[in-house]
Amino acid sequence: MDLTVRQVARQTAVVDLTWSDKESAFRDECRTWLEANVPDPALPSGDTREGFAAHLEWEHRLHEARWAVVSWPEAYGGRDASLWEWLIFEEEYYRAGAPQRVTQNGIFLLAPSIFEFGTPAQQDHYLPRMSAAEDLWCQGWSEPNAGSDLAAVSSRAVRDDDAGGWRLTGQKTWTTRGAFCTHVFGLFRTDGEAERHRGLTYFLVPLDADGVTVRGFGRLDGDEGFAEVFCDDVFVPDNPADSLDPAEAAATMHRGGILGEVHQGWGVAMATTTSERGLTLRSPGRFQATASRLLDLARSCDESGRLGEALADRVVDAWVDAEAYALYTLGDVTGIVEGRSPGAKSSFNKIFWSELDVRLHEAALDLLGPDAELDGPWMKGYEFALSGPIYAGTN
Ligand SMILES: Cc1cc2nc3c(=O)[nH]c(=O)nc-3n(C[C@H](O)[C@H](O)[C@H](O)COP(=O)(O)OP(=O)(O)OC[C@H]3O[C@@H](n4cnc5c(N)ncnc54)[C@H](O)[C@@H]3O)c2cc1C
Repeated sequence: MDLTVRQVARQTAVVDLTWSDKESAFRDECRTWLEANVPDPALPSGDTREGFAAHLEWEHRLHEARWAVVSWPEAYGGRDASLWEWLIFEEEYYRAGAPQRVTQNGIFLLAPSIFEFGTPAQQDHYLPRMSAAEDLWCQGWSEPNAGSDLAAVSSRAVRDDDAGGWRLTGQKTWTTRGAFCTHVFGLFRTDGEAERHRGLTYFLVPLDADGVTVRGFGRLDGDEGFAEVFCDDVFVPDNPADSLDPAEAAATMHRGGILGEVHQGWGVAMATTTSERGLTLRSPGRFQATASRLLDLARSCDESGRLGEALADRVVDAWVDAEAYALYTLGDVTGIVEGRSPGAKSSFNKIFWSELDVRLHEAALDLLGPDAELDGPWMKGYEFALSGPIYAGTN
């Protein structure tokens, strides 16, 4: 065996982690804008009615400055930035302590599926309104008897040939910010006879349609952003034909539509899930920023002699894991840029980031000791971190 050849082969497997001059200039530009514009003091939680309104103003400022959706085409409010630049933007966004994105279920979950499965008319209609935070989307998947087992959804859509569309009936629950949003995307059963993953269709529904009732309710942490969404014979029209006059087509899409093909909703939903569990919803910048705050906290505890060796090890482990997730993500982005979707592999990301978030916050609470009860941001962050292993599909 020729060891020299093997050693040379190993040495050639080099990963270049340096950013280009263009990417560094992009980072400088977003850092400068964020430093000048991030609200101080921080906004109240966007999962309360008052906080949501304040966050909406922030979303409008982001859009006006073209930072709302950097990687989207300019025509839809973006900057045509690369995915690498998007990753840089996300890092800078969290580093600056900028507000949570109350538009996230639209721009990070639904939009990638509209880019993949939407008709050109749907893309032109929905995406600019979404990036401008005019249409605010919530996710209507879970039902009282369909959570981890999403294919158990029983909300149904019945064909109405005379009216040219579908009539939706059923109940969705745990709809994040549903009480404040304008639109919902959700799965409805269009073929009751088909095997359960096969008879589903992915609908886009305005929440002001006749027959929709949205009932808000509070979360355990006190925020009121959850909702139940009831559909009672809600009419959603068929997607407009390509030949239809654009103004008429827009009026039709205003009343809702179908994403992808009828009965093919499961495949579209799994694409949305890839975005939710993988890169787009939870980019690594979020956890690196938390890890960096954790290090600051550990340093202050060290100065006052309160940092024992065991706790210091947990802080370092959590920080290393946040960096590991960032490096792992670079592999994901490389794959996407080369045309490979992360697909089901995104479930690994989700387990990793949700458990990491709990570890980061637990370490912080242990550093704070009895003072943790009084620390708003860490305690609030901890309570939300505990829901990470549940939402987006239980770990
Ligand atoms: C903060 C938050 C935000 C959310 N936002 C939304 C939203 O915007 N839209 C939306 O549609 N939904 C949303 N959800 C709902 C979420 O998707 C569901 O809570 C989740 O899918 C779990 O479903 P469930 O609550 O019905 O629990 P269940 O599915 O009933 O699970 C209960 C327990 O049983 C376990 N379990 C279930 N099946 C199995 C199995 N086969 N093997 C082993 N153990 C199992 C689970 O792990 C869990 O511990 C949100 C949830 C949270 C916490």
